[in-house]
Amino acid sequence: MNKHASYQALRAHLAYLKLAAVAEHLPAALEAAERDKPGYTQFLHDLLGVEVDATEQRRLAGRMRFAGFPSTKTLEEFDFTAQPGIDRALVNELATLRFVEEKANLLLIGPPGVGKTMLAIGLGLKAVEAGYRVHYTTAADLVARTSRAAHQGRWENTMRFWAGPQVLIVDELGYLPMVGEAGSHLFQVISRRYLHGTVILTTNRGIAEWGAIFEDTTVAVAILDRLLHYASVLQIDGDSYRMRGHRAKLAQLRAGLNSESPTS
Ligand code: ADP
Ligand code: MG
Repeated sequence: MNKHASYQALRAHLAYLKLAAVAEHLPAALEAAERDKPGYTQFLHDLLGVEVDATEQRRLAGRMRFAGFPSTKTLEEFDFTAQPGIDRALVNELATLRFVEEKANLLLIGPPGVGKTMLAIGLGLKAVEAGYRVHYTTAADLVARTSRAAHQGRWENTMRFWAGPQVLIVDELGYLPMVGEAGSHLFQVISRRYLHGTVILTTNRGIAEWGAIFEDTTVAVAILDRLLHYASVLQIDGDSYRMRGHRAKLAQLRAGLNSESPTS
């Protein structure tokens, strides 16, 4: 085969194998190889490395889409000085993702605005970056989707879906009461994932108050049984971060008022 024909055949191989990134990079790679004369191994390694990078990027983007995070604030952006009561050592330990590896759960408890969602998503982002499949949902959305599926005869499907991701983030349990079949649906999702995949659950209600979320205390106990059997609990009791901002603004406003107040 002459040089031109073999080049065309090579391009056909790349197209057949769907190595689009290699195909795109090929002219530049060949030009560089003519110049630098790398060994065969080095040349092939570098060329395929281009495809590996592109595949990794595509998969990462896919995992990010699937995760459905409502924000992309990272753990590194979390201001620990604003929340001095928090167990920072535990957060650092969680950031290693060993708990995901061990299929353990995490319960984040605290009043509104203290950063529960931010921490849950920050850990979720780390897990996505590490290659885990993560999915974010709120407790209200989880039970709404589950009950819709149940009524449409897709119960098994939806249970498989909730069991699928290696990390399931269930945000905001306790803001809305879990009435009717909702509590039982949440219980079944938690049960399916028990010892099988991580649940990160955030709630504004202390464990002792969970009876008030569900109409039925036995459901609350059953859920907590599964959830806490193998779990870390991070309690955040500090000032609401949102309130801090408002207070600072109010203080500024006050200071402005005072400086404007007539002195003469
Ligand atoms: P929660 O879920 O506990 O109600 P959020 O995580 O939604 O609270 O936090 C409310 C807002 O304040 C978000 O924009 C969040 O990023 C921010 N926030 C809360 N705590 C912190 C913190 N310690 N450092 C930086 N931002 C914070
Ligand atoms: Mg929240």
